[in-house]
Amino acid sequence: MIIDIHTHIFGKGWMPKEFFYGIARFITYEFAKSGVQQSIEEVGDGMVDASDDPRAESLLQEMEEAGIDRSILLPVDLEFAFPGQAVPMQEVNKLHAELAQQHPQRLIAFAGIDPRRGNAVELFTQCVQDWGMQGLKLHPTAGFYPNQKEVYPLLEKACAWKIPVLIHSGSMMVPLRSKYSQVIHLDDLGADFPDLPVIAAHCGGIFGYQQMISVMTTKLNILVDISAWQLLAIKNYPHFCRALRDVMDFAGCERILFGSDSPSFRSFMSNPDWVQTIKDLPRNAPDGIRFTEEEIAAVLGGNAQRVLKL
Ligand SMILES: [Zn+2]
Repeated sequence: MIIDIHTHIFGKGWMPKEFFYGIARFITYEFAKSGVQQSIEEVGDGMVDASDDPRAESLLQEMEEAGIDRSILLPVDLEFAFPGQAVPMQEVNKLHAELAQQHPQRLIAFAGIDPRRGNAVELFTQCVQDWGMQGLKLHPTAGFYPNQKEVYPLLEKACAWKIPVLIHSGSMMVPLRSKYSQVIHLDDLGADFPDLPVIAAHCGGIFGYQQMISVMTTKLNILVDISAWQLLAIKNYPHFCRALRDVMDFAGCERILFGSDSPSFRSFMSNPDWVQTIKDLPRNAPDGIRFTEEEIAAVLGGNAQRVLKL
């Protein structure tokens, strides 16, 4: 079974335009390196249109093509960073829950809630108990540390319900702030909630994986997803293999989960290619780096199956 632990669905008004412009600024810079000149507005507006998929049709089609059996939908609550969101976050969460209800064999929805909301615990309770959402997504770059006091009531709930929490880690595009998503803050969650599965999205970021390993070696409840590592695989395949091998050797293969962050990296690498890149590791990894078929099966789905109790 192949499980993508990290995907997003966007509809018009679910996220502010400025969020996409921040990502467009990054994409424009990356493409300019290979001689493709585009304006930030052009790329940003294109992203808003391309990622408009409120019924998850594009995602389901992409899953079919990539052979992905299940995808986890992660609503992103960035309203504190971008005030005045057109569709309220409660509604955005409900829409995600409905997609999971419509496609119970394919989609699983987590709740996306900024812990600073006055009704954060009530909303989380509604998401899980009334709408069947199966985890919590936090995006600290909107302006909070994952170990600050407002977060703990949500983590206590997740612990009581025995459901995982997925937290963005590593750097983030403007105007969001990367200081909040440094992996060292997750160490507290290991200390205070040793039985709560905490998934650090992006494995600390492409260049933060060594700090990530450092936290994981002593905080055994911390897992990672490898979404966004498509960029590392494209730019420097041997480095990608070395980094993934290091996470496996020092933190443990059983704590690494496949993720794509779809649709964010589609313009760099399609999901069928990303899945194939992982599947091919036992054959394509450079000399001196070995991956077994068993490890690849665990990363692609077996580990997520265990964490999500599927
Ligand atoms: Zn994401």
